[in-house]
Amino acid sequence: MQIEQMPMSRPHYQRGRKGRVRMIVLHATAGRGPGDLNWLRIGGSESRPVSTHYYISKQGRIVQLVDDANTAWHAGVSRWQVDGKQVSGCNTYSLGIELENLNNGRDPYPAAQYAAALWLCRSLVTRYDIPRNQLVRHLDIAPGRKSDPAGFPWQRFVNEVYSEVQAPPPTPPELVVQLQAHLLDLAYRSAGSGISAGWPFFTLAQQAKLGMPVAAPSARRATLGTAQDDQDRGIPLADAGIFVVEIYAGDLLYAPVAELAEADPSQVQRLSQTEAGPLRDALLELLFRHADPVNGYRPDWAHHQYVLKNLDNLGVPIGPNQRLTISNGKAYVCQHFAYDSLCSPVPNWKTIYRLSDLHAVVAGKRSIPGMTIAQATLLRRSLLDSLYREQAGRQFEEQATLVRYALDKKLGAPLGTPEEVEIGEAHFLLMPFAKDVVACRLPRAGWAYDRPVPEGTPINGLVATLGDESSDAIGHLSAYVSGSQHLPGTVTGQLLGQALAQPRIHDLSRWYDTPQPPQVIEQIILWPTPGPLASDLALPVVDFWHYYIQRDGTITRLRETPSTNANMIIASEGDLNHASPRQRSSLAWLLRILHASSAFDLSQVRVGVPR
Ligand SMILES: [Zn+2]
Repeated sequence: MQIEQMPMSRPHYQRGRKGRVRMIVLHATAGRGPGDLNWLRIGGSESRPVSTHYYISKQGRIVQLVDDANTAWHAGVSRWQVDGKQVSGCNTYSLGIELENLNNGRDPYPAAQYAAALWLCRSLVTRYDIPRNQLVRHLDIAPGRKSDPAGFPWQRFVNEVYSEVQAPPPTPPELVVQLQAHLLDLAYRSAGSGISAGWPFFTLAQQAKLGMPVAAPSARRATLGTAQDDQDRGIPLADAGIFVVEIYAGDLLYAPVAELAEADPSQVQRLSQTEAGPLRDALLELLFRHADPVNGYRPDWAHHQYVLKNLDNLGVPIGPNQRLTISNGKAYVCQHFAYDSLCSPVPNWKTIYRLSDLHAVVAGKRSIPGMTIAQATLLRRSLLDSLYREQAGRQFEEQATLVRYALDKKLGAPLGTPEEVEIGEAHFLLMPFAKDVVACRLPRAGWAYDRPVPEGTPINGLVATLGDESSDAIGHLSAYVSGSQHLPGTVTGQLLGQALAQPRIHDLSRWYDTPQPPQVIEQIILWPTPGPLASDLALPVVDFWHYYIQRDGTITRLRETPSTNANMIIASEGDLNHASPRQRSSLAWLLRILHASSAFDLSQVRVGVPR
């Protein structure tokens, strides 16, 4: 982290100090930035001069206004026990830190601000050897007169400032073997599958460096109560036989069901090396349809031709072609791939921007005709927001340690939600990406993802444990924790962005219709479907559906507003009585949103296929 120096414009402080720095006092500005910072910078008013040594914004920006060696006027009338002696007038002995906050007890202190305050207090406590009871709040030293910083989680904060959090040691080799099993397990679970020892698809994917598994499509779903086996997963393709298909980040792999018992990677074929013909067309349709159930593969689309030519650097599609409206009001159509994302401005379909190009523009390494750096920055940010929301269920937080690591190491798209595992005495945060699954050692169990990890925290990855590289540790997160990497801006210190309460939503409505004026919803009908989504969309009744909720909770928006009978129809994959918890919570979320936006009566919700 860094401290920005911003000298005061009026000398409303005292040069030098009569005592040594023995205390740290935290305040809240009872205002909003940047107004509160400007007020501090001019030193308040002439009749009530004020000053502080440090100011921390809600975004975690740390500004120093008065040098530590000078006395700032922040504490006012105050008393405290300092090194065993009762003193009055704490300014003489203290450093003041103002936190941007309304001080009403409800205004939150965001994770970035908390992390910055933690980092600053830790370094000041160390530099001046401040004992635990001399890190105080303004309300502690001026009781009855001051209430700041109201609502700040004080006990937790003091504990964290004084907890000697050490970076955990590198993972011992005997744990790396177990860790590898967990990483593999997460990689395949994120793709909706499992892995057995010596699985020939995985062997080939590793040999050919095709990255992590993305999906394991199957022809039909397992019937309730029976385990799906490899035979069940077989997909009949173009009269060429029945195949098991697995999609990896870099290619689609397939093998005849009959040959799988051999566990021989030479039986496994790659889509990219398959000759043109009916089988290749069927595989392409499967690959695209899996990511984009509405469009599938369109050989006539310039967009899809582009994808096929660039499969090795784009990776496979991992989401549908969907509408993305960014905050300046511009509309794009975008699609995420395992290694990159594509988008086109509406309606200039032939213009294709790549996320990787936008990275380069933002870094000042290239330019795109007709696009300013500000536009590129906004578009890049919107694409990454959409990618992290959909794939990881979390906000994209550029400055979060693991996010910076993944961007810097070019690990591609996140492919699932993070999870914590305990192996032996060690705790890890595991997170799947297109090129690797990473494991970040946590200082202890239940470590909040919005807390910074200590410098030197070891990080392992599945690819390194499979290769010849020294497998005890592939690296540590120091550079990303301390913020010495080249990415601009302050470091929040958190590991990952916030988890989202909102379900994953795909907006496919533009493929079906154009926006219509909103109508009053008279009735909502919940329509159970046989599933899965791809085959449901082939049903003629799809024309009546507005939303579709998958078993995994994904909401697909098919139409803008009720167009017939003022009925809103929400199709739901499978029997509602056996809906998964995520499907139920997505449905509840959608009903709440609709209720709030179009004022329908909740008693007007009907279940069943209308006649
Ligand atoms: Zn105060």
